[in-house]
Amino acid sequence: MSQTHTLIIGAGAAGMMAAAVAGQRGASVLLIDHSSKIGEKIRISGGGRCNFTNVALDGGDASKYFISQNPRFVRPALAHYTAKDFVQLLKMHRVTFHEKHKGQLFCDDSANDVIDVLRAECAAGKVEWRTNCAVKNIRLLNEDSGARFEVDTSTAGVWRCQNLIIATGGLSVPAIGATGFGYEVARQFGHTVTELSPGLVPLTFGNWAQDGWNALAGVALPVRVSAGEGKKAMAFDEDFLISHKGLTGPAILQISNYWQQGESIRVNLCPDVDLEKALRQGKVGSRMQLDTALTQLAPNLPKRLLQHSFEQAAFAPYAKHKWADVSDKVLRELAASLNAWTLKPSGTEGYKKAEVTRGGVAVKEINNQTMESRLQKGLYFIGEVMDVTGWLGGYNFQWAWASGMAAGMAVSDKL
Ligand SMILES: Cc1cc2nc3c(=O)[nH]c(=O)nc-3n(C[C@H](O)[C@H](O)[C@H](O)COP(=O)(O)OP(=O)(O)OC[C@H]3O[C@@H](n4cnc5c(N)ncnc54)[C@H](O)[C@@H]3O)c2cc1C
Repeated sequence: MSQTHTLIIGAGAAGMMAAAVAGQRGASVLLIDHSSKIGEKIRISGGGRCNFTNVALDGGDASKYFISQNPRFVRPALAHYTAKDFVQLLKMHRVTFHEKHKGQLFCDDSANDVIDVLRAECAAGKVEWRTNCAVKNIRLLNEDSGARFEVDTSTAGVWRCQNLIIATGGLSVPAIGATGFGYEVARQFGHTVTELSPGLVPLTFGNWAQDGWNALAGVALPVRVSAGEGKKAMAFDEDFLISHKGLTGPAILQISNYWQQGESIRVNLCPDVDLEKALRQGKVGSRMQLDTALTQLAPNLPKRLLQHSFEQAAFAPYAKHKWADVSDKVLRELAASLNAWTLKPSGTEGYKKAEVTRGGVAVKEINNQTMESRLQKGLYFIGEVMDVTGWLGGYNFQWAWASGMAAGMAVSDKL
């Protein structure tokens, strides 16, 4: 039997950060992963360049970028370990990066640079690794046994530890090692796991192919997409992309975090133009055809999309009418079909395509300064396994770094 101060399950973004911090502050740390490769999600993230943080987090209320039963839970950890702090770490390792869009920071070269930084930081903390190693059982020990947990592993024997950190992430992309193990451990120790569903995921629609939308695959444009009503309403100004299966692109991934099964989403295909006003005002005395008028009023709208929208919304008969002759009622309906296209997704492309998992270990049962369980001393949850889901744009990694830092500090404070 072997012994370590802190055992971490999951060598992803959060687990490596926690291991490095605890190790560098003097704790003996064992980091276990069932995969052969560590940090696989970092490697595939941001199109291979890892959008590792977002500078927007460093001004104002960080909780607005997160979905959780209690979004305010994220504030202390994100205030303690900021986007600037992670940037500083990368600079120290001479990793170069750039800002791409809305505060999103990406590596100039490769996401592997981030993995290398975390590996080096773990090495500086003398962290022990075991890959290809699954955890079979976790037992709670008696107070007098000198350790709190006993862990059976598939290839590294039995380990005892004072602190157990669960950093096994969410369910998205099972092909690279995602499992629900963290949720099982949480339940074993009496924790609530909130409802789980794919997040940051493409949306699918029942009659997509029958209605001919798949023929428009590849059409992309900036839109405003919104979901929810009243105080719960959310909107994003981003690009969307029509695919063979439905809608995707940053706008759709963002809104998927807020969309609930059975609800509709609204897409404003020309957010810069109030089409109802423009169509009603412009028609007076005009000799133009309606379809020509529309291409002039909304020049960003691809012609193929406009034509298909016309057909779908049964406006095709009016396309060649003289604009001035089209009634205000028809113009109003036509404008609504483009400024507030309302459609009901039938579902999502699932965990295979989702970037994150919505829901997780309920945060009310976790200390927001240390990430320690309020139900079991010495047990910690960090990263995506918790009920904390960030927007697209580097927010999920910053949560992984910050929660990993909080737990790494907390376990080493106990030395
Ligand atoms: C395609 C894609 C692109 C993304 N791009 C970005 C981006 O650019 N920016 C951003 O902020 N976020 C991005 N994300 C989200 C981000 O990758 C995650 O939120 C983040 O990796 C979560 O960190 P984590 O440490 O909690 O979990 P992970 O990084 O997923 O790590 C969990 C680790 O636990 C291991 N594990 C799982 N089950 C077990 C088990 N039973 N036993 C032992 N080990 C286990 C896994 O092998 C893995 O190594 C992306 C996600 C995907 C899928």
